[in-house]
Amino acid sequence: MSEIAVSNLSKAFGPHKAVDDVSFTVASGEFVVLLGPSGCGKSTTLRLIAGLEQPSTGAISIHGRDVTQAGPSQRQISMVFQSYAVFPHLDVARNIVFGLEVRGVGKQERLARLARVADIVGLTPYLARRPAELSGGQRQRVALARAIISERPVCLMDEPLSNLDAKLRHEMRVEIRELQQRLGMTMLYVTHDQIEAMTMADRVILMKDGRIEQDGTPADLYVRPRTTFTARFVGLPPMNFIPAPDETGTVGIRAEDLSITASGGRLSGTVAAIEYLGADTRVSVDWQGLTLVARVPGASRLKRGDPAGLSWDDAAEHHFDIRGERRHAVRRFEHA
Ligand code: ATP
Repeated sequence: MSEIAVSNLSKAFGPHKAVDDVSFTVASGEFVVLLGPSGCGKSTTLRLIAGLEQPSTGAISIHGRDVTQAGPSQRQISMVFQSYAVFPHLDVARNIVFGLEVRGVGKQERLARLARVADIVGLTPYLARRPAELSGGQRQRVALARAIISERPVCLMDEPLSNLDAKLRHEMRVEIRELQQRLGMTMLYVTHDQIEAMTMADRVILMKDGRIEQDGTPADLYVRPRTTFTARFVGLPPMNFIPAPDETGTVGIRAEDLSITASGGRLSGTVAAIEYLGADTRVSVDWQGLTLVARVPGASRLKRGDPAGLSWDDAAEHHFDIRGERRHAVRRFEHA
């Protein structure tokens, strides 16, 4: 059964449709990420599901019950939002267990759960502090701990890791995913960070201008992007695009599918930049006014200004039509 089902959901703010006819489901125990650029409507979608906004049209059900008109407290969910609402007058421990106290969970169980959750989010040394004595990242972890400790089967998170440094963000990605799987939580998670989406999600729903652009597994979006928008948004560096020679669309090639030689190749250009990343190197090549990026293993001997030939296998090509939609019938092109 789907734990969350959203059908034909729309939300207008004045004339602007922030969410425009969105439908999807999240199955029990599934981790689904709403991904997309700033302003695409992902937070509004989450707030509608949380009951913090009322939809203009459409329906929402949670645990098989229509909650479209229900208040947030009637929806049986936990939430973590970017603007972490912590109580300033309570210490960290009380902030974390507050919801359990309200629900009448016994003291012994509260303390046991607190110890476990504080350890997971790395707040054990800070339990006696007030929120004012914490950094932004630590406050965010208090909000995260509060959602985790509630052990509600459905959890909504909106950019919960945005204030953490890179190392902690990585650790928390792994922790949240591990915890979600262990507890069998159903998770709907909003982020604009494609690395979070790719590494954590069972399924990614990519949004653009209030609509769903593509809904699939991380591998679906990476390997078979349905549009050039998806192909650009998912993957680092973004997919390279070259015009189809007959100007009927574009051909996309991932950086790791391009190989570089000093001469020859299917396209000849000039090295514009070299970025050494340790395990691999990104080489940017200027070709007819376009910059194409190749990812080569280890270091590269090439220097800026060197001639560079680019090659790839036909099978690595992604073909898109003039509207940016994936072509199903694949045509082969030769570039001069
Ligand atoms: P971000 O990653 O920047 O938070 P988002 O994808 O979550 O972006 P939303 O916050 O859902 O985007 O906003 C979608 C659109 O709706 C934006 O154009 C935003 O300006 C608009 N919007 C959101 N909330 C309101 C509001 N309360 N009143 C008017 N417009 C709003």
